[in-house]
Formats: sequence, structure tokens, C-alpha cells
Amino acid sequence: MPYQYYYYSKFNLLVKVKFIFLAYYSNFHNITINSELNTPHVKRYNYSNKTLNNSKDTNFNVLIKTTTFGGLMANTETTINAVINPQINDAPIDIEKTIKALERNNFVVHYFETGDEAVDYLRSRIQNKRVAIGDSRTLLELNVHDALSEVNDDITDIQRPLPGESFRDTALRTMGRDVFLTSVNALSQTGEMVNIDGTGNRVAASLFGSQEVFFVLGVNKITPDLASAIYRARNVAAPLNSKKNKKSSLNPCAKLEEKCYDCGSPDRICNALTIYYKKMRNMQTMEIIIINESLGF
Ligand code: SF4
Repeated sequence: MPYQYYYYSKFNLLVKVKFIFLAYYSNFHNITINSELNTPHVKRYNYSNKTLNNSKDTNFNVLIKTTTFGGLMANTETTINAVINPQINDAPIDIEKTIKALERNNFVVHYFETGDEAVDYLRSRIQNKRVAIGDSRTLLELNVHDALSEVNDDITDIQRPLPGESFRDTALRTMGRDVFLTSVNALSQTGEMVNIDGTGNRVAASLFGSQEVFFVLGVNKITPDLASAIYRARNVAAPLNSKKNKKSSLNPCAKLEEKCYDCGSPDRICNALTIYYKKMRNMQTMEIIIINESLGF
């Protein structure tokens, strides 16, 4: 046999073996993906009875990719496409898929029907700790500060500076606490979370320094995929956040139609885009509290 043909045949065989292995392994993962939820505190989600109608081929391709990369985390190509081409996507959300995807990314997930149930859980879960609360409309709406102050003496809240304290000093005090709480601008059904930040203190404290970080969010922030999560963060959450304070309320997204104009405003609030792919290394836990209500921006 000519040696070119010999090598071609060996290559073909290798591809076939790899394909069979991936097919077997992907099928195995498919069983896991479709299995019933068995997570404490997680209740069935009635937001929509529909699920995404991926074709078998699409599912298979996704599973091969995810098998190769070790989970449903977005790979580099998906991330680049999502960042340069964020897109609105109104496909119905499957909460069980969302929770499974987050758990595969090593996040702990708890799902509650109401904000009151979620706050009760946080009050029982976080006790006698040094707590920091980051900027979050969701946490304000749930009155998390007051609930946690019943069982924790040491709380630093970015919304409640000490008398005469600068923003920078309050923000610095939120770093390195035992527990840090915030929210996210968007969470994707594929298991990633997205936050946009103007100053950076919120994402900085959520990424390093605390042993336990809690992200609290309503189901209104869940999107089908990473591209739509980034779209939401830029075109829904950021304009509403821009309107919150006097300076940023002059940004075009706050003055004109509610969408991102990728402005050059000195008070632009979108200076960093953070994608949380998986739990940070060395951090004890990153816990996601999903509430079946519309909360925050
Ligand atoms: S980049 Fe500018 S226009 Fe776009 S959302 Fe942020 S502040 Fe608004």
C-alpha cells in the first residue's frame, strides 16, 4: 500500500474511533441532562411548559463540543460571537436546564417561588458572619440588609456608607468579608452569568476576597444563551442602571431610547463586562438564588 494511503487510512480510523467514543460519551451525558432534578430547595418551575426545540443533530453537535470542553460552559468561539454579536432571544426558558447547567459549572443553586422564602433562606444560611452587600436593586427590593442584620452584627453595605465616608472607602470595606452578596445583570440557560460594571467594585468583590458569594436574582434576568445574556446586560440592565443616578442619567441610553449606544460618555457605566463561567478557584462557594418573581433590572 502506498504510504500516503496508509497514513490516510490510519487517520480515518482514528477519526472514526474518536467519533464513536464521543457519540457514546455524549449519549451518556444526554441521560444526565434529561434526568429529573433532585436538588434541595429547588421546586418545579412553571414559567413555561415549553422547552427549546433543538434538532437531534444540533443537540449532538453541542454535546460533542461540551464533551470536549468538559461541560456546558461556553467555549471561546461562543464567547467571541456572543460579545461581538449580542442578540435578543425570546425563546422560552427551561428552569431545570438552567439549574443543571449552573450546577455543572460548580455553582450551588437554590430556587424559590417567592422573595420572602429566599430571604428566609438567606437569614438562616448567613449567620454571625462579616457580611458585605454590593450594589443591587434586587437586594434593595428584598430588604436583604435588614433581614441579615437580625443575625449578623458586622454588615458593610455599599448603599449605606458611614458618616463622611467616601464611596471608595465604603467599596474597599466590602472587599474581603466572609460573605458577599450581589445580583447579576443576566444569567443564561447555558449556565453563565453576566455583569457589567462602571467602577468595578461590585465585580471585584464577587470574584475574589470573600469565601462565600451569593448572587440573588429574579427569573426576569434569565435568557436562553450567552449572546442574549450579554444583550440583556447591555440593552436592558445598563440603560435602567444609567437612570439611577444624576451623573449617568445624562448618558444616551438614559436620555434616548432604552438601548446601548456604546457611548463615550465620561459617566459611562459599562466599563467592564464580566462573564462568570464557573465557580472561582479557592472560593468556598458561589451560590445562586433564583426567585420566581420579577426583581431588579
Ligand atoms: S455604553 Fe453608554 S450608552 Fe451603552 S449602556 Fe453603557 S452607558 Fe448606556
